[in-house]
Amino acid sequence: MHKHHSALGVATALKPAAPVTLIRPQAAARAARFFSEKFPGRSLYAVKANPSPDLLRTLWDSGITHYDVASIAEVRLVAETLPQAKLCFMHPVKAEEAIAEAYHVHGVRTFSLDTIDELEKILRATHEATDLELCVRLRVSSEHSELSLASKFGAELGETRELLMATRQAADALGICFHVGSQAMSPQAYSDAIERVRAAIVDAAVTVDIIDVGGGFPSVYPGMEPPALEAYFDAIYRGFESLPISYSAELWCEPGRALSAEYSSIIVRVERRRGTELYINDGAYGALFDAAHVGWRFPVALLREEESEAENAPFSFYGPTCDDMDHMAGPFMLPDDVAVGDYIEIGMLGAYGAAMRTGFNGFTSETIIEVEDEPMASLYADPVPARRRATVIKLG
Ligand SMILES: *Cc1c(COP(=O)(O)O)cnc(C)c1O
Repeated sequence: MHKHHSALGVATALKPAAPVTLIRPQAAARAARFFSEKFPGRSLYAVKANPSPDLLRTLWDSGITHYDVASIAEVRLVAETLPQAKLCFMHPVKAEEAIAEAYHVHGVRTFSLDTIDELEKILRATHEATDLELCVRLRVSSEHSELSLASKFGAELGETRELLMATRQAADALGICFHVGSQAMSPQAYSDAIERVRAAIVDAAVTVDIIDVGGGFPSVYPGMEPPALEAYFDAIYRGFESLPISYSAELWCEPGRALSAEYSSIIVRVERRRGTELYINDGAYGALFDAAHVGWRFPVALLREEESEAENAPFSFYGPTCDDMDHMAGPFMLPDDVAVGDYIEIGMLGAYGAAMRTGFNGFTSETIIEVEDEPMASLYADPVPARRRATVIKLG
């Protein structure tokens, strides 16, 4: 893999005609160390946020030993990349064949579920195994989160009693898990969810061995600056400590975004300018799905050796495909003299960016370059850099 000092260095040295993915292993390692050292329990990396094997190895080297996988392909990928890792199959609706292969071939013992049907499926697929860690997924509110995960999965309070009692019977260890939605902007999301957990435990009167507070830990984007992660950890720990669970109960979390967002960014080139619309060479079918479909505003920076004197102005982007939906409304703030041929870095794409890329219409990105400069924003840098160097980054 090529290694460069900075995003600007890559743009000026290579003048790439196709989008380039930049990776920053040191930023992912810093995030992993933060969770390993400061979360008052165990942190499972949610692989779907970014399944890159290089990232998986970086997280492993920085203390992440457990991985939340949701498909048999993710099970195989992590088992192959990190043979010592512990895998937890946390999708509540699985193919029976996937459960069987995970259990019998890859040694997976931890599964989530939200119905009696799924419990029976797991028991059939594992031949009534007696060494299972089974986590019942509760439905909780997504009201504090930017992306809801509240409608698809999770048992309702009225259904949890029977489900928890049946799962307790079948499981060696019984867990309760939930997901507050992605990019939770307040620790209250977790406190509220833990109150739902309390109600479910009291109602079912079962002994619970694992509380898994899921993902949802935020990263930092323009217009979305969350409180410090320590405030989330404190709220979670206070809630966990007050639950009626066994003294030896474990606390788990499943961060995806928070461990991977700072890992990568992209460099794109402006191919056309029409007023305040820039036609760039990556888009909704590439790394910018969330920018197009949920209006996510990623940070941007103009990569020019000579700093622009122009004022910033709001721009929107069109991606390279022939599809009108390949449009990112932004607004993305860039110097008003941005022009055809300019390079732009779009930051904080390590989570749900690189992972969503397709080859639709023949546009994709194959070049991955490691850089040593800081990500465009960070929840972990000390001191936290303001959005990195306004709009222009100097080489060196
Ligand atoms: C997507 C997902 C995660 C990761 O969520 P983030 O918001 O990226 O932290 C964790 N657990 C489960 C079950 C998920 O589906």
